[in-house]
Amino acid sequence: MENHVLELTKRLTEAFGVSGYEDEIRSVIREEITGLVDEVRVDALGNLVALRRGGASPRRRAGVAGQPGKRVMLAAHMDQIGLMVTHIDEKGCLRFAPVGGVLGLACWGSQVRFADGTVGTIGLDGGLNARDKMPILSSMYIDVGATERADVALHVGDVAAFWHAFAGQGNTWFAPSMDDRIGCAVLVQLLRELAGREIAHDVYAVFTTQEEVGTRGATTSAYTIDPDVAIALDVTPTGDAPHTNPALEVYLGRGVALKIMDKGMISHIGLNQLLIAAAEAEGVPYQREVLQLGSTDARSMQMARSGIPATALSVPSRHVHTPSQIVDRRDAEAAVALLVAFLERPIAL
Ligand SMILES: [Zn+2]
Repeated sequence: MENHVLELTKRLTEAFGVSGYEDEIRSVIREEITGLVDEVRVDALGNLVALRRGGASPRRRAGVAGQPGKRVMLAAHMDQIGLMVTHIDEKGCLRFAPVGGVLGLACWGSQVRFADGTVGTIGLDGGLNARDKMPILSSMYIDVGATERADVALHVGDVAAFWHAFAGQGNTWFAPSMDDRIGCAVLVQLLRELAGREIAHDVYAVFTTQEEVGTRGATTSAYTIDPDVAIALDVTPTGDAPHTNPALEVYLGRGVALKIMDKGMISHIGLNQLLIAAAEAEGVPYQREVLQLGSTDARSMQMARSGIPATALSVPSRHVHTPSQIVDRRDAEAAVALLVAFLERPIAL
């Protein structure tokens, strides 16, 4: 991918979009995919559903190798983890509840930003006096620089996200929202690459909502689309940082990770075999991911209706769910290349 993908990723990672509050990121993505797809709509849960038709007929047309075209659902979640205000005290300190998997360890001193642009720093009760204690969210607060309640123009229920500008350093990219804006960037870039190609399959590019609170947007969008196969595009932790779990054989920069199992699903074996065959035929670097925690939109898509063959392609990321996640652009490039190769082939399961 060239520099316009860096620009795209920067734009996507810097847009606001805590789970349930995805308006800003959705409008940014909608702008980016205009002209690349045949249909686009927003459903009741806020999912952005785009269809790039394949072949000649509206549905299930003959494919490139005489195989019927399939309905392929690709899902990347727009939402990011965040903090929701639960109480504002007389000094203007804001207590908060987590929206998604926010870790106390990752919070103290982090900068956050609300949808209206207000920024704050996460403070810890006791400050440095409490530095040896394990920080928990109930002993933390958002400090927006106020000295009294009247200074704060925010309300209970307002949401904030970790905030830091995107940074690119060689092949590595840094941003708090890489989970899953890098997956959104892969999906937008895929639509760009498909623009000049003839493929048999209908591609439903779905930018989902509320993944971080239980893959809710994928659940309803998969029901409506009723795809033949489904692939989630997300991040996965790596096993290559000091003292991380050696059972996780995923490395930054060694290619896209193909999900074999996580806590929520066992990927469809035949679908994975097709992806491996496409990767090997085109020389796309890939890794096999067996993750013993977490899950993705693929779980909900797999369980939709009477069941859908599903898997996930992950961009390896260090420091997932912290304010400074790292990905390697080459792994994102590999994800795009693998999806192109997969979609150019018949999908016979
Ligand atoms: Zn994610």
